[in-house]
Amino acid sequence: MDKPLAFKEQEGWAPSFELSGAAFTGILWPTVCRCPHCRSVYKLAPGLGDVFLGKGERTCSKCEKAFRDRSQEWPELSTLDRFFFLFPGAVCIWTLLGIIFRALFSWAGWTFGKTQILLPAALIFVTPLIAWFVFRGFQVARSIHRFDLHRKAKTA
Ligand SMILES: [Zn+2]
Repeated sequence: MDKPLAFKEQEGWAPSFELSGAAFTGILWPTVCRCPHCRSVYKLAPGLGDVFLGKGERTCSKCEKAFRDRSQEWPELSTLDRFFFLFPGAVCIWTLLGIIFRALFSWAGWTFGKTQILLPAALIFVTPLIAWFVFRGFQVARSIHRFDLHRKAKTA
């Protein structure tokens, strides 16, 4: 564990923002992850990308030196980290927008009978969420598989 830790460029100033502000800035300024040896960018994470799935180590594609990238496999994550992995700031805001729009619709008296407006609106809202959870589910399944393989390789 003597390998250096990757640089993350939001870290310095992000904590000074309030929680709601941080979620907002997370969307506008993605987290930039850099190799600690040569400072080349290896990852751009949208939102408050604090949780990554992976083996915890990475080899830089530029300078070919190893470093720790703060990633963990799914079975190692805490419940809170799992929550943040599945519901980062952008997803929370998107869900919140959906709830607000639904409230506006019912406030304006547009019932669910008017499917010609609501169906496309619901599709526009739900489709990215489904795509997001399918994508995340795939990542989680891959991480669990990787973790099991690693454990088997250790005990064998
Ligand atoms: Zn490097």
